[in-house]
Amino acid sequence: MSEDGAKILKDVFGYASFRPGQAEIVELLAGGTNALVVMPTGAGKSLCYQIPALLLNRLTIVVSPLVALMDDQVAGLSANGVAAASIHSGLPREEQVANWRAVAADKCRLLYLSPERLMSDRMLQAVARLEPALFVIDEAHCMSKWGVSFRPEYERLSALREHFPKATIAAFTATADKVTQQDIAQKLFRGEGRIIVHGFDRPNLRLSVAPKTDWKKQLLDFLEDKSNLEDKRDAAGIVYCLSRKFTEEVAGFLQSKDIDAIPYHAGLDTETRKANQNRFMNDDGVTMVATIAFGMGIDKPDIRYVCHLNLPGSMEAYYQEIGRAGRDGLPSETLLIYGLDDMRLRRQFIEQDGEDEEHKLREHKRLDALLAYCDAAGCRRTALLSYFDEEMKACGNCDNCLHPPTMLDGTEEAKTLFWAIKDTGQMFGGAHIIDILRGIQTQKILERGHDQLSSFGAGARRDKKFWQAFIRQAVAGNYLTINIQRYGALQIAPPGDAVVKDKSTFLFREIEALPPKRTKRSRKSVQALESEEDLDLLAVLKKLRLEIARTRKIRAYVVFPDATLIEMAQARPETLEQLAAINGVGPRKLENFGEAFLDAIATHN
Ligand code: ADP
Ligand code: ZN
Repeated sequence: MSEDGAKILKDVFGYASFRPGQAEIVELLAGGTNALVVMPTGAGKSLCYQIPALLLNRLTIVVSPLVALMDDQVAGLSANGVAAASIHSGLPREEQVANWRAVAADKCRLLYLSPERLMSDRMLQAVARLEPALFVIDEAHCMSKWGVSFRPEYERLSALREHFPKATIAAFTATADKVTQQDIAQKLFRGEGRIIVHGFDRPNLRLSVAPKTDWKKQLLDFLEDKSNLEDKRDAAGIVYCLSRKFTEEVAGFLQSKDIDAIPYHAGLDTETRKANQNRFMNDDGVTMVATIAFGMGIDKPDIRYVCHLNLPGSMEAYYQEIGRAGRDGLPSETLLIYGLDDMRLRRQFIEQDGEDEEHKLREHKRLDALLAYCDAAGCRRTALLSYFDEEMKACGNCDNCLHPPTMLDGTEEAKTLFWAIKDTGQMFGGAHIIDILRGIQTQKILERGHDQLSSFGAGARRDKKFWQAFIRQAVAGNYLTINIQRYGALQIAPPGDAVVKDKSTFLFREIEALPPKRTKRSRKSVQALESEEDLDLLAVLKKLRLEIARTRKIRAYVVFPDATLIEMAQARPETLEQLAAINGVGPRKLENFGEAFLDAIATHN
């Protein structure tokens, strides 16, 4: 069976070999075993069910949460000559009818539907008559209340088993911890099937985290840093912000620096949102400055960086958001910049969420884990993966591995700070405490007589920025907590108490050290493309790809992914046979685009 799968992989999709895990899953699903597959973004989940769908040679139904995602998949399959269709409310009525006719006449192997569409009584009856062999639930974590983005309409899929007892059920997700996995497997196939978990590591993503000092400078430095990637200014990327207003501000700032940036948030009208998303998906090198409203279903493979200018909501959210970079496996970068305000806001969100106490506690814990990650002095990847129960040695591709931080003894400063907090009854937020430490006679301080405290002015040697960063580290390290019910008051946690009582010391990461020296370029953005000529040719091929994509109204990467163009630029094929040998060039694409690319290469030579 897997040999047949490998044949389809080559003959239809033009890929030479399966990626880790793919062959096993293809074999299981084609053999009729139910399975829940947890695989990181970019690992190649789609082929894991598209190939069984072709092997089974009967109808496969794919449930997907987003219209855009369905359309992309159908376009991708069509480009490879596979008959697939979707039915959703975004299509004109006639097209929906025509698509259904094609499916009913057994002319399509894959039908993409939203969960609410599939689970409607009418559709269930109609689909039952076609006796589908396989149901695929994409983004399956949406089924579980324990997951990171529960959707009630997804939970209704629990009834699939009863409606289609003979069909195989497969579920795919990139984020599900153990409880969530069990929950999904129980709901979908009552535990009668396999759970397959593949590693969470994304070795091509460089991980960096920095406390917020000056976001404009930090963001520009990140985009212009050439130690790992050549041209982030001109590369596709996402900058995540918490608020709509900030999103606009950041997009405007980047535009003023000649960076092709556009905003995306729920406050924009539907038309603008759609237009911006299309520009990001179709054009090369656009930066999307967005709230988390943007991202679900963004399967663009060549996103080179993800930068967070605010703290994400949890480790899961962070992992999912950075995971949008580098799906094509090429080197990509991530940077998370976080401030004390972010921590307070996040806690507030959780409190205001209105859910039950157990839920709140869980969310606070998730946030704690993220803060500990931010504060980690060792390898980031080790810290990130350990959260997902995976062990890993130091990676050599994160900020802490590349530039190990200098830790200093801050026990004296910590005691000064903690006493100021204690002396004022643990009732005040960071700003007021810092004013006390710096001996500033604000109205609030005078009114409350805080200028009489022994801690008043005790930290005047240090500036405001220092104390902000210092407090942030103390919070991230769990020496202090932020009490949201008391309007963000700083309070002393047991480890902080131990420092006050001289029972332990307080180490902190050097603050406002000079930025690390730029190392010599370690890796190039474009793997192994050594000569300038190769890079020139690559640019020509990308331009051609864009032209083809525009005329055919498909996405650039549906024509060919970056990795395929890079191989072309290196190998410089002269004949169709040589071109066919390149990874990602299947027969249909060879037929449709082959000559054009050969011409471009020949002209360039
Ligand atoms: P996921 O859904 O897991 O995030 P995708 O299915 O979108 O990932 O695949 C990510 C990219 O990897 C796509 O561009 C896809 O064509 C490519 N890909 C998948 N499997 C292979 C393979 N066996 N060989 C080469 N490229 C592959
Ligand atoms: Zn590391």
